[in-house]
Amino acid sequence: MNNKDFQEILKGYGIPNFNKITSESIEEGIPILINILSDKLEALENKIDLNLKDNSSLTWESVIIPLHEIQESLRWSWGILSHLNGVNNNKKLREVYSNLLPEIIKFHNKINQNKVFFKAFKTLYKSKNIINNTQKRVLDCEILSMNNQGISLKIDHQKEFNKISQRLGELSTSFSNNVLDATNNWSLLLTKRSEVEGLPKRLLDIMATSAQKDKPKIDYKNGPWELGLDFPRYIPFITFSKNRALREKLYKAYVSRASKGINDNTKIIEEILSLRSKQSKLLGYKDWAELSLSSKMAGNIEEVENLLEELRFAAFKTSEEEIKALKECSQRNKSDEYLTFSPWDISYWSEILRKENFDLDQEALRPWFPLNQVLDGLFKLCERLFEITIKPSEEEVFSWHKDVLFFNVFENGKEIASFFLDPYSRPKSKRGGAWMDECISREKNLKGEITKPIAYLVCNQTPPSNEQPSLMSFEEVQTLFHEFGHGLQHMLTKIDYPQASGINNIEWDAVELPSQFMENWCYEKNTLNSIAKHWKTGEPLPEKEFNKLIKAKNFNSGLSTLRQVHFALTDIKLHSDLFIKSGISPNELRREIAKNTTILEPIKEDKFLCAFSHIFAGGYSAGYYSYKWAEVLSADAFSAFENILENEEMINTIGKQFKNTILSLGGSKSPNDIFKLFRGREPSTEALIRHSGLSKTI
Ligand code: ZN
Repeated sequence: MNNKDFQEILKGYGIPNFNKITSESIEEGIPILINILSDKLEALENKIDLNLKDNSSLTWESVIIPLHEIQESLRWSWGILSHLNGVNNNKKLREVYSNLLPEIIKFHNKINQNKVFFKAFKTLYKSKNIINNTQKRVLDCEILSMNNQGISLKIDHQKEFNKISQRLGELSTSFSNNVLDATNNWSLLLTKRSEVEGLPKRLLDIMATSAQKDKPKIDYKNGPWELGLDFPRYIPFITFSKNRALREKLYKAYVSRASKGINDNTKIIEEILSLRSKQSKLLGYKDWAELSLSSKMAGNIEEVENLLEELRFAAFKTSEEEIKALKECSQRNKSDEYLTFSPWDISYWSEILRKENFDLDQEALRPWFPLNQVLDGLFKLCERLFEITIKPSEEEVFSWHKDVLFFNVFENGKEIASFFLDPYSRPKSKRGGAWMDECISREKNLKGEITKPIAYLVCNQTPPSNEQPSLMSFEEVQTLFHEFGHGLQHMLTKIDYPQASGINNIEWDAVELPSQFMENWCYEKNTLNSIAKHWKTGEPLPEKEFNKLIKAKNFNSGLSTLRQVHFALTDIKLHSDLFIKSGISPNELRREIAKNTTILEPIKEDKFLCAFSHIFAGGYSAGYYSYKWAEVLSADAFSAFENILENEEMINTIGKQFKNTILSLGGSKSPNDIFKLFRGREPSTEALIRHSGLSKTI
């Protein structure tokens, strides 16, 4: 191995040299780094321990900065590996990643579960050496997070706590395995053409391939076709199939996944809820919901329920009308399905009604959204709102793929940040979806030198071909704006402490504010006009198409709001003390909540909790409400611009205000305080309700 290459992964600062970093150099380098850092960590722990014992005074400089240096060094190197694992995956890299992961977790635990550091944080928090509120908040959050992991429990309680944590880990793995197995174990072989009537070719292809198993010849026209419960088959089938009996069969299988037989999750749900309740009580909380909310922006369960109730109330009547419109659509189209309208008819008739109402063909709009033009419009918007300019880097920056772009961000002529943009889909080596990640966070060192933030922006949009540039769907444009919003918060931060700069230390239910805020601009006429120009002729998007986009935005928004409220309310109530004491089953509680949050009552086979992986196998327990919470914030923030869209001077003023509060202050203050600094008041649901086309009054 080239010795120089090996050093690249240990460098610890600056833009990583992707040209020289290889799977082999990572495999060799990271264990060495962990050893070096473990020694440093031990030395620091001993030093702090001595200081605590002889009561010498602790300072930010003697505790937090050296600890951060250790953590940052590992984050820098490990960050490269996990980034490459997402964008430039191969067998060797995956292997290196999964082999090293346990060591990394072990190292993090040495810090998170360290009693000396915990004591030092608490002592420091109370001392006069903590000079400002940002430091206080960073310490506060750190102490809370360590507390919530059981660090201050008495020995026997801690043992019990850890035992429960381990059991909860096992249960959530079994839960998701059951969902996966139940999903995969169901299939239905279709052989008659009447059974696949209405299905798009793309779906027939998938179903024919699935039916053929290993045989190479695929006959999507003559079948057979295999139906399954996975998303790529379930969603289009329930949307397009003209065969109602099959839609019913499929729907019933889908909503009853993992609710019977060997994959039954019913008991697992009960055990998870009871253990979570126990664990939260050990920590001194009333219930799991209180524990979850202790580190979030929402103050308490009532605040969450109030917000959900406001949205529910606004969405209910609209949802009734939406179902009525679907039934009328069925009647108009000479079908008798409206007479016994059922859950398996919603997607099907929605699709027909959508076509009738809007005639919007998203595919046909692509020529108006070439990537270059979209970026140009996005950058102009940022200039208009935040007085920053964005230019492609003139210097060569080594990246992980030839299609990756690198830009610099300027404010008052000074370069303040940079970002990588990896726009195109590469199914073989790149994870799906889109995301923003930190390459480097802003910080100011003791000498007063500032490290500029750098972001990774990753999308998975349509690649260019020989004949044409990357032509984006409107959805891809929105995704780019969304991730750019996260990127702006990372790059425009003015906070000097890396623990609270950019997106660091921001409460989980507030972190989607800037991203969803940016999405709103895709529907603003000036912005849309500057991004949507035909790639060949330069002609703007026709007014007719623009209006269709605006109208289609809120199609069935009552039903989708109500659905999210139903999930969120069920989640938060299941994790409340009230439920634990009630003696009713989770399914009974869910059905009770459904009375006010669904228009078509769940059918008796519907056991959706048994497949609600977000809260039983993901990180969303007593936090599902965050989706709606953040949408309320972003819609409310955007509404500050609504009445001034024709006034460039005002747009600039309010844009700067947004930059100087939401985008600049990161996690240095509570999100509620930051929101109030921008909006001059508490957040309100009014804007989201209005933007979704729902009504506050009945
Ligand atoms: Zn996001």
